[in-house]
Amino acid sequence: MGESVKDILKADDFSKSDLVKLLQTEGEDKAFLFRRSSEIKEKYIGNKVWFRGLVEFSNVCGKDCLYCGIRKGNKNLKRYSLTDDEILAAARFAWENRYGSIALQSGEMESRYITDRVENLLHKIKELSNGELGITLSVGEQESEVYQKWFNAGAHRYLLRVESTNEELYRKIHPNDHKHDFRRRLDCLKNLQEIGYQTGTGVMIGLPFQTIEDLAGDLIFMRDFDADMCGMGPYIEHADTPLIEHAGKLLPLKERFDLTLKMIALLRIMMKDINIVAATALQAIDPLGREKAIKIGANIIMPNITPGRYRDSYKLYDNKPCTDDSAEDCQSCLEARIGMADAEIIYGEWGDSQHFDKRRNNITVKRHRG
Ligand code: SAM
Repeated sequence: MGESVKDILKADDFSKSDLVKLLQTEGEDKAFLFRRSSEIKEKYIGNKVWFRGLVEFSNVCGKDCLYCGIRKGNKNLKRYSLTDDEILAAARFAWENRYGSIALQSGEMESRYITDRVENLLHKIKELSNGELGITLSVGEQESEVYQKWFNAGAHRYLLRVESTNEELYRKIHPNDHKHDFRRRLDCLKNLQEIGYQTGTGVMIGLPFQTIEDLAGDLIFMRDFDADMCGMGPYIEHADTPLIEHAGKLLPLKERFDLTLKMIALLRIMMKDINIVAATALQAIDPLGREKAIKIGANIIMPNITPGRYRDSYKLYDNKPCTDDSAEDCQSCLEARIGMADAEIIYGEWGDSQHFDKRRNNITVKRHRG
């Protein structure tokens, strides 16, 4: 007989085989895992949640990821790009409502026009908020010079999910061409980290062909990459994507949800001081999904502040929640929900990753010594 789950959980770092075992816990063992991750969150982060007002500023995408509803090949979708004024109004809403930060997200486009536009918007957002709004970008793979320009213009966090760290699986869920190159995604993550961004990554959970070993490998990747932030959520099928043909092979939604909570709990135990997002996709499966994630380890929520009329067109997966809410509805609904998770929303603070501060101090100490 191997070690019991309780024994494995006495440590706070795990081997791949430990993680495989922990990801399969049920009943009392699963409850024990969640209690342990909650305690760690309470001790290192506190019972706190920070907001990133999410602006999905364009669904125009140059990529064709086989799982994603806004992929270039999906013709059943009205494409949109918010005007600069609409983006700035959303940023102002976030600032006036004392959200510490916003996150600008879009489909993946690389061009001089996009580079300049985002750079210009960053300057304007900093200006309208007296430098007070923190800014996360999630605009996909870009050249290092572009990341540097945006960093210089005021973005200080970047979220780029690796999607899966098993290269073979990555190839099964993307077209095999230079635009969807696993190695480039990894290079981009390294570049972001070197430039000095708080760097976030993450994966989808419950993808077709994905194994428990793959998920254990994903957790090890995040630890070894020394991620400052993580956003991971359940994969949810979308009828207008090629992966729908494998829908019959998927785990039931409830199991994908449960696995996501276990991934969050384990990551919190392994990486005590990072920021972990309670992904919106959790709420597509369970109305209290994000609150459950907060209880067991997550500390970041991304209330959607995209103008309501566009939300239906940023459908990454079927049944995406809150697509007909306004930003105000979203806020009051979240306040009530987070209260249910016994957590407190911290207004007016950036809520930076503590892990990043420590990593940066380490780098400085090493430089001085070197
Ligand atoms: N293009 C940027 C990028 O790739 O980083 C940002 C936008 S992309 C739509 C944001 C995230 O949506 C992806 O990283 C992916 O993990 C998630 N996503 C896309 N399709 C999904 C699906 N069917 N189920 C769950 N998450 C999905």
